[in-house]
Amino acid sequence: MKPQVIIIGRPNVGKSTLFNRLVGKKLALVDDQPGVTRDRRLGDAELAGLEFTVVDTAGWEDEDPDTLPGRMRKQTEVSLEGADAAMFVIDARAGITPLDEEIGRWLRSQEIPVVLVANKAEGKAGESGVFESYSLGFGEPVPLSAEHGEGVADLFGALWPLI
Ligand code: GDP
Ligand code: MG
Repeated sequence: MKPQVIIIGRPNVGKSTLFNRLVGKKLALVDDQPGVTRDRRLGDAELAGLEFTVVDTAGWEDEDPDTLPGRMRKQTEVSLEGADAAMFVIDARAGITPLDEEIGRWLRSQEIPVVLVANKAEGKAGESGVFESYSLGFGEPVPLSAEHGEGVADLFGALWPLI
């Protein structure tokens, strides 16, 4: 069985765009509307010969972001069971939000290796967000642009030791 890598992050950071980029087909529905990616979506990904199953999630998307119980329930649904590693995606243009920090805390309590992905890092607009993301405590982020395809190959170096 191929290793499985699950994409985690708050709404609108570009998880589904990254999934589509890695899978190379429009399998995940990309939309700004909350709750569009209802279920976990699985796809086959290949990076420089490294083959893995990538999982798109939307666990933090269709609950009122201000109610902790709603999020807790969803957190259980976004089960990491079966995943060998997680890509924790943040929006480098928006910077780190309280929800990013909360997801980061939750991820740290799980026993799963995490690659921090600073998406939307095309151009200069994402620079400060990339630096800010070190504060999440997952080490060096991988800056990339899922939409433009820049930096996606750099995920290889971060992922292969983990899966
Ligand atoms: P999700 O909610 O985390 O699955 O995010 P989506 O993949 O649906 O993307 C949310 C929005 O961010 C969409 O409007 C995308 O076009 C946009 N987006 C995704 N990746 C990038 C990127 O690399 N750069 C920029 N500027 N926008 C992006
Ligand atoms: Mg999505």
